[in-house]
Amino acid sequence: MKIIKNPAKQTWESLCKRTTINEKSLQETVQTILNDVKNNKDKALTKYAQLLDNVSLSSFKVTQEEIKSAKNVVSEELQQAIQLAKSNIETFHNSQKELPKKVITTNGVTCWRKNVAIEKVGLYIPGGSAPLFSTILMLGVPAKIAGCKEIILCTPPNKKGAINPAILYTASLVGITQIFKVGGAQAIGAMAYGTESIPNVYKILGPGNQFVTKAKELVQQQGVAIDMPAGPSEVLVIADETSNPVFVAADLLSQAEHGADSQSVLVTTNEEVAKNVEVELKRQLEDLPRKELAKKAIENSFTVVFNSKEECIDFSNEYAPEHLIIASEKAFEYIDGIVNAGSVFLGNYSCESAGDYASGTNHTLPTNGYAKNYSGVSLDSFVKKITFQKVTKEGISTIGKSIEIMAAAEGLQAHKNAITVRLKELNS
Ligand code: NAD
Repeated sequence: MKIIKNPAKQTWESLCKRTTINEKSLQETVQTILNDVKNNKDKALTKYAQLLDNVSLSSFKVTQEEIKSAKNVVSEELQQAIQLAKSNIETFHNSQKELPKKVITTNGVTCWRKNVAIEKVGLYIPGGSAPLFSTILMLGVPAKIAGCKEIILCTPPNKKGAINPAILYTASLVGITQIFKVGGAQAIGAMAYGTESIPNVYKILGPGNQFVTKAKELVQQQGVAIDMPAGPSEVLVIADETSNPVFVAADLLSQAEHGADSQSVLVTTNEEVAKNVEVELKRQLEDLPRKELAKKAIENSFTVVFNSKEECIDFSNEYAPEHLIIASEKAFEYIDGIVNAGSVFLGNYSCESAGDYASGTNHTLPTNGYAKNYSGVSLDSFVKKITFQKVTKEGISTIGKSIEIMAAAEGLQAHKNAITVRLKELNS
């Protein structure tokens, strides 16, 4: 990775820009696919399955037989690992439940807020370059805890028209049975507009490549809610003299192997550490089966060396990484300065892979700098928060006059009247 020493602050913004496909052509491609799905429904899905996934499909819905037989081919060891991860993810997301808290704002005026599940949600599970069955746990577990009535899942099929058995096993473990063999922007279109085979949903969640992310952005403009822009994955590691270069290199590569468009960034106060990490990167890269993908991602990645810890934190906040690893024995000294990050991993043993799979936190996180204004997926992503209020006669008598004055000042006579008729009745 190229090493940049003490970059001037005015260069940070351009350093932090992620590599993206040409925005105009990406938008055109995705808009064409979405329009086609909206107008031609299943016929368009069949066409894009052939064109983009190289597969000819007669039906999109995964059958019960396919789900049942998947269990037989997933090893007992993997099933147990998935069950352990599910249990930790359940524990963490169950802890996010909120009971309605009734608040008396004025005598006779009680207000509260209740979480109500979004009835129909669509989960996108990436499957292009790796079958991300772990993402089913990250989306399916909170959807179930929230109580979403209808949960559908779309994921791209392989060239034989099949879905990876681990995906089917995990979906059925979580209790999702409506699974469709559709990937990319066309899957997002199908869940947004509905087709003959695929029901439309109110909210679409899940990460994906740039086509998927752009499609989510575009359907959002048409009224379908989305979780966030969760595109190509990225990590920023802050390292110091207490970091372990072997661990740091492994973490940078674990991100890079996602795809050529992934990015790994190292920020450090210690040039020696940067050099040692570089040596380790080269050594570990050679042993990776996905070496070619990781190599391309590393070519888009870089190391920044600063003089102070504070500059490292400031740069990280400007980058706003999806994953931030503070690979330091003194990680807790950094926490208060962190204001922009999707998920933070503290110390030399809190590697990103732990959060990716099994520690309990969610791995569906904002990328491309969106950690500045978006949170990752949580239980909240699957609920709406509905407010309630109960105003008694005493309550309206107390606040009525103020409401009348405010409504009159805004020129809204009917609003004022709604109060006046009640106050009149109470005073008669
Ligand atoms: P994917 O399922 O997102 O995309 C595959 C689909 O892309 C294909 O089915 C195809 O329909 C479509 N596609 C491919 N080439 C196309 C083209 N030229 N034109 C139009 N459509 C095309 O799988 P993927 O490609 O492996 O990407 C997964 C992504 O998810 C990676 O970038 C990874 O970094 C990211 N990810 C992000 C998070 C997060 O929380 N942000 C978590 C996990 C994974």
